Amino acid sequence: MSSKVDIGFDRYLTYSELTDYLRKTAEAYPDLADLESAGKSYEGRDIWALMLTNKKTGCPKKKPALYVDGNIHAGEVTGSMVALYLIDYLVDNYGKDEEVTYLLDTRTFYILPRVNPDGAELYLTTPTQLRSSVRVWPDEEVDDLPGLHRADVDGDGMILQMRVRDDRRGEWKASEKDPRLMIPRRPGERKGPFYRIYPEGYIKDYEGEPIEVQKSRFGLDLNRNFPSNWDTKVPGGGDFAGSEPEARTIIEFIIKHPNIGGIQALHTSGGFYYRNPCQYPEDKMDPQDLKATREIACEGTRISGYPDVKSPNRATLTEWAYEHKGIIAYTTELWNRYARAGIDLIEWQKTTDPEKREAQNAKLLEWNDRELAGKGFKDWTPFEHPQLGPVEIGGWDPKFCAQNPPPFLLKQECHKNALWIMKHAAALPEVHITSLKVEDIDGCVKKVTAVVENFGYLPTCVTNKAKELGACKEDVAELLPGPGVQVLGKARLEAGFLEGYVSGGGRGGPAKSAARFTWMIKVDPEASTKFAVEYKSQRGGTVRKEYPEE
Ligand SMILES: [Zn+2]
Repeated sequence: MSSKVDIGFDRYLTYSELTDYLRKTAEAYPDLADLESAGKSYEGRDIWALMLTNKKTGCPKKKPALYVDGNIHAGEVTGSMVALYLIDYLVDNYGKDEEVTYLLDTRTFYILPRVNPDGAELYLTTPTQLRSSVRVWPDEEVDDLPGLHRADVDGDGMILQMRVRDDRRGEWKASEKDPRLMIPRRPGERKGPFYRIYPEGYIKDYEGEPIEVQKSRFGLDLNRNFPSNWDTKVPGGGDFAGSEPEARTIIEFIIKHPNIGGIQALHTSGGFYYRNPCQYPEDKMDPQDLKATREIACEGTRISGYPDVKSPNRATLTEWAYEHKGIIAYTTELWNRYARAGIDLIEWQKTTDPEKREAQNAKLLEWNDRELAGKGFKDWTPFEHPQLGPVEIGGWDPKFCAQNPPPFLLKQECHKNALWIMKHAAALPEVHITSLKVEDIDGCVKKVTAVVENFGYLPTCVTNKAKELGACKEDVAELLPGPGVQVLGKARLEAGFLEGYVSGGGRGGPAKSAARFTWMIKVDPEASTKFAVEYKSQRGGTVRKEYPEE
């Protein structure tokens, strides 16, 4: 038997390493895993989807499913690593850990660790920083425009900042608390030295000041390319909703797997869970859907400390998932360096007072010195710039401190968030046929009664939004007669949806999470009473019981 690759989770994998890991894992666990290419990226790389479930307990498509993806934003490579860690954790612990075994026996995971492989590769293998796709957009001529273009000028592998001494017009000065820290020059302040700060880069057609800082050539945002509230004004949204192959691959994958009832999109950074509703107030959202969305998020908060936050964004996967498909979805913003440094993120976001901001930034630098051995921040270093002359280059490591954890802190980020994703999977609906009875009515006519129960927290439609939209088919209970058995009346009964225990406990009393179905059958005198009952729920699973029991 082949074995999977030990990746240690103390570094970020390139595309070929990630592919190798996924292939070997699928080979090593044939009873649990299938690897497929969900589609191709702009540059033609496969967007891998690893399916995980215990195949012996049922067909993957007939089980309730959780969809997990990572790294739609090129630099948010922690998302990929959390997705890989989840895979690793599930296959390693199947048959050993009770919760993992239960989840893989009853549910399916579709895990797409790197949905933007082109962007991630450029990010990981060059100094380039980019939001998302590598397709140059919206202006193909941007590189020819005069002005400053970001580049690694001093060859240290990072694109940082350049400070230029300018006592007349400089907007910044060094902090007295920590000379590395640049703070804004106060209104009317005259005692320098003052500096102007530019992104590190070269200036095309330099003729002296003023210097225009050009936008990145990579203006696309694949997570603003989804068809909910999309319009041409969405920043980075692309030419039309679904115009980009990566977003289209995700949309198609979710549509092709109607058993998906939960979505986890892994991003960085900040340390919180973005959730619905995105574009309207909470009191306009279905109250049960809001309750479920917040209660599941709260399970994550208990593990990671990350709060749930109403998302302000539109045309995202998370918004589309709920607004068009009625699926509970989260944009998990991994990694919070502020918390690591002892700064409350909400406090940080609210701060407008420059002195308070200075104190917070000084605290971040102290953390860098204390816990990162100073490696997260490059001190201002003199450099002879080909156009600007003497400058100093420095600043925070944008990739593996600001946007992603330094490699040695990666594993803990992966672990706690894999556990939270499992909590989301555990909350999915889960149907069972709990009883099947046959009563003699009149000679060869018999009455069949089946009881179906949803053991899950969520209803079989997952949300009331899904019901309202008609986003998933209603459940069906069907009697499948054996030889010599005839169903009197309809064999296929419309079953609506079963509630989950999220609906119970309030003023309405217990949830309506069970249903009883009856059929009349006629059995030929020579035949035996043989049939099966099947309950089909797109999102709650398809279950079947034979009579007599085999
Ligand atoms: Zn993101």
